Amino acid sequence: APGSLSDKNVYDWSSEEEEPDGRARPVQVLLVKDDHTFELDEAALSRILLAEEVRDREVVAISVAGAFRKGKSFLMDFMLRYMYNHASEGWLGEADEPLTGFSWRGGSERETTGIQIWSEVFLVDKPDGKKVAVLLMDTQGTFDSQSTLRDSATVFALSTMISSMQVYNISQNVQEDDLQHLQLFTEYGRLAMEETFLKPFQSMIFLVRDWSFPYEFPYGQEGGMKFLEKRLKISENQHEELQNVRKHIHSCFTNISCFLMPHPGLKVATNPHFDGRIIEIDGEFINNLKVLVPWLLSPRNIDVKEINGSEITCRGLLEYFKAYIKIYQG
Ligand code: GDP
Ligand code: MG
Repeated sequence: APGSLSDKNVYDWSSEEEEPDGRARPVQVLLVKDDHTFELDEAALSRILLAEEVRDREVVAISVAGAFRKGKSFLMDFMLRYMYNHASEGWLGEADEPLTGFSWRGGSERETTGIQIWSEVFLVDKPDGKKVAVLLMDTQGTFDSQSTLRDSATVFALSTMISSMQVYNISQNVQEDDLQHLQLFTEYGRLAMEETFLKPFQSMIFLVRDWSFPYEFPYGQEGGMKFLEKRLKISENQHEELQNVRKHIHSCFTNISCFLMPHPGLKVATNPHFDGRIIEIDGEFINNLKVLVPWLLSPRNIDVKEINGSEITCRGLLEYFKAYIKIYQG
């Protein structure tokens, strides 16, 4: 069936982590342990980034980050559907098809903090004829206490450092503390990087979920941009702290944009038996998903990861990942 992940093979898993059916799956490459130390699964990461078909390709790395239980993994699974089927009009899949991929779920219990990447790296032909490798990254952070805020900051910083596009998933609005968190996290990242005259990071997308003021700023990217312009505006009569947060964010990213998403409906938000089928999701949400996902991922819109102005291959990204994690391990 279109949209199904079941028949997609990766390559041979040759270690103890072998997947008997060879199916693509999320792989936990970075784990924050209970004692707040970080563990990088270098072997797993190497298997993915050094696979023969992708290792020398320039890499597009897409990450979704933000507090947990806000629908990040749910969105990622639609991104996967698009990656598997984007040549087809029906990439969204059948109306009654359960959503699979990264694990997403209801409930409010604590989850692990870390970074998962999809084991299959997608080869995509850009309109200019270049074939690039697309890596999807899902992050988990809790943001719920002082100690986990530090863990989350590291996860957020690392995922921003190694991605070409960071989707900052936030609920309902862009609050002052969302901006403060972003400042903290990016400062954390910038400190760990070589100093350069270039902006340290590439694209930042503020993705506002459950937006409920469409009459003020309509859903989608244009409404989002107008809304964000207003939110990130720096003015003389603002408190210095508010000005600094805004200046900092502007100075960190080459591109900043915003997309306003409607609420997906009560079944998605509250029904414990909901399995992700489209038929149970609000039409307005689906309509905007059909705009959002191609806007993020279509071959013409994706950008290769650059560090200090040079384009990076999968092999190069692995080296950066290892170097950056060392800094945080102290
Ligand atoms: P994550 O922790 O950020 O990855 O969140 P999940 O993707 O696991 O989703 C957590 C819960 O939120 C699940 O019950 C989803 O059904 C639900 N959910 C997904 N998208 C949205 C959304 O846009 N709005 C709301 N209110 N709930 C959502
Ligand atoms: Mg998740």
